[in-house]
Amino acid sequence: MHAEIPGRIAIDEALAIIRAVAAERAPAPERIALRRAEGRILAEDIIAPIALPPFDNSWMDGFALRHADLAACPWPPRMRIAGAQYAGMDPGRPLESGCCVRITTGAALPAGADTVVIKEDVREDDGWIELGHLPEPGADIRRAGEDVMAGERLLGAGQVLTPARVSLLAALGIAGIAVAPRPTVAVFTTGDELVEPGMPLPPGRIYNSNRDLLMGLLRQHGLEPTAWPTLPDETERIRNQLEDAAAAFDLVLTCGGVSAGEKDFLPDFLAAHGKVHFWKVRMKPGMPVLFGQRERALFLSLPGNPVSVLATFLALGVPLLDGLQGRREPRLRWHARLAGPWRKTHGRHEFLRGRLQPGADGIVRVAPNAADASHRLRGAAESDALIVLPEGERAYAADEVVEILPY
Ligand code: AMP
Ligand code: MG
Repeated sequence: MHAEIPGRIAIDEALAIIRAVAAERAPAPERIALRRAEGRILAEDIIAPIALPPFDNSWMDGFALRHADLAACPWPPRMRIAGAQYAGMDPGRPLESGCCVRITTGAALPAGADTVVIKEDVREDDGWIELGHLPEPGADIRRAGEDVMAGERLLGAGQVLTPARVSLLAALGIAGIAVAPRPTVAVFTTGDELVEPGMPLPPGRIYNSNRDLLMGLLRQHGLEPTAWPTLPDETERIRNQLEDAAAAFDLVLTCGGVSAGEKDFLPDFLAAHGKVHFWKVRMKPGMPVLFGQRERALFLSLPGNPVSVLATFLALGVPLLDGLQGRREPRLRWHARLAGPWRKTHGRHEFLRGRLQPGADGIVRVAPNAADASHRLRGAAESDALIVLPEGERAYAADEVVEILPY
């Protein structure tokens, strides 16, 4: 008999519990070099220390000049080239009246210059340029601060550091930032039937496929998980290992041993030696998933079937990892049209495997994989997204818009 454990809940309740528990743990931020910041969650607000661009500069390779001088020239206007201004040079001397300077893209505009003519639009001859037509005043100049003004708030705590954001911080000269620490994660597979790939396969045994699935999913989400040896179906050994992991990791991720079978020890272990936040969610696959904690470690115990691992990790594991890192920016919710009809014949919140492909109109269609049993890994390998169908029986027509979780 299992000890006092909460019963089946809806996926939204499970998510609410996960978010609440994760929010209580908000860890102290750590400072890291910007060079290592990609994918991390920012833990401070970023106020621009300088303007972008920092100074007026040329947009093109050409000649910088004062537009009024040009307008005063007889036709066709000619100007003497009084010097060169290359990217990286300081703005130098102010522009001599009636002259231009050769300038390259990104070079600071000399004082007095207000317009750039691109080199393709001039004829150059012995230190002079001749223009075929008049440029607009202010043409091909990038103004200081037109992208960012010094003192503007650009990013906030809880935002993800995408490569473009890291690059923006670099452009501002910021070299170190405060981010949320990444949770440390211990990964356990369980079951006497498991054999590691590369070893001979005795009768009645199967290869361990979930470890690589979980390690890969975690790494895809930027973590550096630690794989522990597979746990046998043996209460004492399981207990020692899980206690050791709980003392050293922020999150213990297990798979298998969480259903109601004779050898499913995890619910009892956590009920007796920790706490169960929920056990069993009205989802398919993945119903037996359990969320609990022991000491400082949170436990997310996923069911053993490979597709259940995928669905529970994407549906519950990712929000847990986001919560633990203080991510405030919601993940985008993607949708696609069903490539064909589908009949949902049970009440649970369902995750079907599906293949994404553009329809004739270019809009993404998702084709459900007919092999929808949770042990059928091939269907997951041949798909690129889970199709999310909310609770309730229902017939879906071709072209209906459904939510998808790409993986
Ligand atoms: P369990 O919840 O432990 O009863 O496991 C459910 C099903 O998933 C069983 O058929 C297990 O053999 C299978 N399974 C459990 N763990 C793994 C694993 N690491 N790799 C592949 N299959 C597994
Ligand atoms: Mg098992």
